[in-house]
Formats: sequence, C-alpha cells, structure tokens
Amino acid sequence: MAKPILFWFRRDLRIRDNAGLYHALRSGSPVLCCFVFDSTILKNLPPGDRRVDFIFQTVKSLKQDIENAGGELRVLIGDPTLEVPQLAEEIGASAVYANNDYEPAAKLRDQKVSSILEKKSILFKAFKDHVLFEENEVVKDDGKPYVVFTAYKNKVLQRLKDPFYTKSYPTLKYLKGLVRTQVSSALPTLRDLGFLDTGFVFPKKSINKNTLLNYQKDRDFPALENGTSHLGLHLRFGTVSVRELAILGLRYSDVWLSELIWRDFFAQILFHFPYVEKSCFKPEYDQIRWRDSKHDLKAWQEGQTGYPLVDAGMRELNATGYMHNRVRMVTASFLCKHLLIDWREGEKYFAEKLLDYDLSSNNGNWQWVAGCGVDAAPYFRVFNPVAQAEKFDPENIYIKKWIPEFGTNSYAKPIVDHAEARHRCLRAYAIALQK
Ligand code: FAD
Repeated sequence: MAKPILFWFRRDLRIRDNAGLYHALRSGSPVLCCFVFDSTILKNLPPGDRRVDFIFQTVKSLKQDIENAGGELRVLIGDPTLEVPQLAEEIGASAVYANNDYEPAAKLRDQKVSSILEKKSILFKAFKDHVLFEENEVVKDDGKPYVVFTAYKNKVLQRLKDPFYTKSYPTLKYLKGLVRTQVSSALPTLRDLGFLDTGFVFPKKSINKNTLLNYQKDRDFPALENGTSHLGLHLRFGTVSVRELAILGLRYSDVWLSELIWRDFFAQILFHFPYVEKSCFKPEYDQIRWRDSKHDLKAWQEGQTGYPLVDAGMRELNATGYMHNRVRMVTASFLCKHLLIDWREGEKYFAEKLLDYDLSSNNGNWQWVAGCGVDAAPYFRVFNPVAQAEKFDPENIYIKKWIPEFGTNSYAKPIVDHAEARHRCLRAYAIALQK
C-alpha cells in the first residue's frame, strides 16, 4: 500500500471544494487529516475569545464529516512546527499537503515545517485555496505588483471570464481516499484548550440571493440586517469557498464581487510589501506625530466619544465581534483623524475584537482610511461623522439599537469639536508630509 499523505487543515475548514484536500485525495495515496490548535497563538488570546469557540465548533463538525466518510481528523494542541512533522513521521507519510497561508508569521511557520520535513524526506506541498489569485498571478505587464485597485480589479475581471479560475474542486467525489489509523483520537474540549464556550450564535454561512441582488443599493445602510452578506468570518476560516462565492458575484452582483476582489487585492499587497504589517505603505506618513491619549483611545474603544455613529459602531463591535463596513470606515477615520491617534492602535483593537479579523484586510483598510496605504483616500478628506450618520442612518435606527441612552442627558458629550479636530488633523498631516 502507498505511503499516506497527511492533509493539514488551517484556514480552510471545509471538505467541499478544498484545493489541497482535492490534490491529496487525487494523488492515489491514502489520506489522513489533522488540525492543530496552535498554542503559540492561543496563549495570547483571552479565555472568552469567540473565534476560538467558532474554530472549535467548526473542527468538531469537520471531524464528524471526515469520520462519516471513513477517515480521521487528528486534532492536536501545540506548536504546529513540532506537531505536524511528528505526526507525519508517526504515520509514515510520504508528504504533508496544505493550502497556502500568506501572512508573514504563517509563511515562516510553513518554511520551518517544510525544512524539518525535508530532513525526514517528507515532501511539503501547499496549494492556492484562500484567494482567487495569489502572489504573482495578477501583476502588471512589467511584472510589478498592482498598487491601484481599479487596474488590479480590471485585470482580475478579465481573468475571471475564464471559468478555470472559479472551477470547484470536486473533493466530495473522492472521499473514499480518506483513511483512519488504529490510534483513538478524541477531540480535546474547549476547557482543555483553556477557553470557554461563549454561547455565541455565529453568522450563518449561507447567503440570501436578495442580499446580492440588492447589494449595490443597500450595502451602506447599517440598520439593514441583510444589506451585506456577513460572510467575513466564514471567508476568514475557509468554511466557505471563495471560488463558489465569486461565481455568485459574477451571476448576481458585480459590486459584491468587487468586494471579494478588494480582499484579494489586500492579500497580494501584504505578500508583495510585507513591511506594511508594521509600517505605512507610504513611508512619509510614518512622520506623523500621533497623539498619545489613553483617555481618548478608551472613549473610542468603549463607544463613549459623543459621536453617535462612532459609538454605535464600537458598541456593536464589542457586543458582537462584527461592525458594518460603512461604520468601520467612520470609526477608523474618527480615531486616526479626529483623535489623531495612530491607526495601529485601532488596527490592534479591531484585531482583538473582529470575528472576521484578517491581517491583510484589516491592515489594508486601516491604512486606506488613514491615507497612508495603497490607493488610499486623500489625507485631507476627513469623514464628518455627523453627516455620515444623517446620510446612512437617517432615522437613527442603527444608532438607537446600540445606544439606548441616545437623545438623553446620560449620553456622552462630544470629546472633540469636529471643526477643531479636523483642523488639528490636517495640520499634523501637512507638517509630516511637508505640504
Ligand atoms: P460583504 O459586504 O458582504 O462583502 C463580502 C466579503 O468581501 C467580505 O466578507 C470580505 O471578505 C470582503 N470584503 C468586503 N469589503 C472589503 C474590504 N473593504 N476589504 C477587504 N475585503 C472586503 N474585512 C475583513 O475581512 N477582515 C478585517 O479584519 C477587516 N477589517 C477592516 C477594518 C477597517 C478599518 C475597514 C474600514 C474595513 C475592514 N474590513 C475587514 C473590510 C469590510 O469592512 C468587511 O470585510 C465587511 O464589513 C465584512 O462584512 P460582510 O461579510 O457582510 O461583507
């Protein structure tokens, strides 16, 4: 019998249309699966982190699906750079297959795993699955990466005319390639991991066709429950396939498809310019003298700035791990422009709270709002949070949902004056950029 392949699930927590799993199953070798709860990541998260609960529930049902198909999902806790090579060796694997993860820390992890495996004569192979186009697949004619979204998008749309790029991998047809070992492999509990069952009800992974048909008209209104898809969490952990979603976008909504392309765009920016993880894409913006005000940062985090749309957004984030995109733009702009607090503080807070937190999209959007990123809004365009509320929540429905004391004396007074704050921001940016 051929030596097995170990398939390692990471941010691709589904069997259906999974590129790496498909290639493993099609190789003709028996396939054993694993997932590692990465202790190096978990140790930095609070016990009530909802994303760990989501991953736990997802891995539990993935394990069940794999067992029902006659296979095994070995669930481990530890450092994947040790656990994966050890398991591969233990089962006598010829190769470890996975899907590509483009974040700098994940790339380092994979390089380490790959070189440990190489010493044991075990192959490491990873595939594109998380994005529509990866790395150098969509670059300018001169081979340089795109830094202007529209040009990037146009090239992507051209490519998507070829159904090859959105074709599903029919993994379900080949599940008979899954095998199990004699070793019993129970699922650890959340408690074993040091986490709690949050009791949180996560957004569904299905999408309503009407959301897509009405997306262009509804997407900017946070009071509408189904104005956007709420699929961010599922895209983040790969419980849905981006190829299948792109097909829906092509069929029903080019504006929605465009949002999926923004996601790819920021992923390729992080890939080509990894320094953006810590620094501004446009280096001159790193000269801005940000204010260090713990008081203002706390008021922003807690939704106590006295600007209702900002406060409603931050309270929604704190309560649910979600915030509507329009409101993300307004809250982010308020922090780095009105309060003149470094965008990295906001990026960090969103990273802690967002269920759909994704390094490339979070970083790309924060830099876009702060004006220092690729294809960013000009720095002198400062959102007026009052005008934004009047335009996108004209009846205060969203605001009242998250601020019960809105309109009473107990609601916070504005912590800054809009005109003064705008002026202070423009001055600080102009000095840094010497304009
Ligand atoms: P929909 O509107 O239904 O869009 C579908 C999908 O397209 C989203 O789930 C997402 O994967 C992608 N998408 C939509 N808008 C964007 C965008 N502007 N950039 C990149 N991808 C996009 N998105 C994240 O996935 N993770 C983040 O950590 C994140 N941080 C953000 C921080 C700021 C300051 C801002 C302004 C935006 C951020 N976004 C982030 C982008 C966007 O707000 C969310 O993707 C969107 O609100 C998720 O809701 P939805 O699933 O209903 O999206």
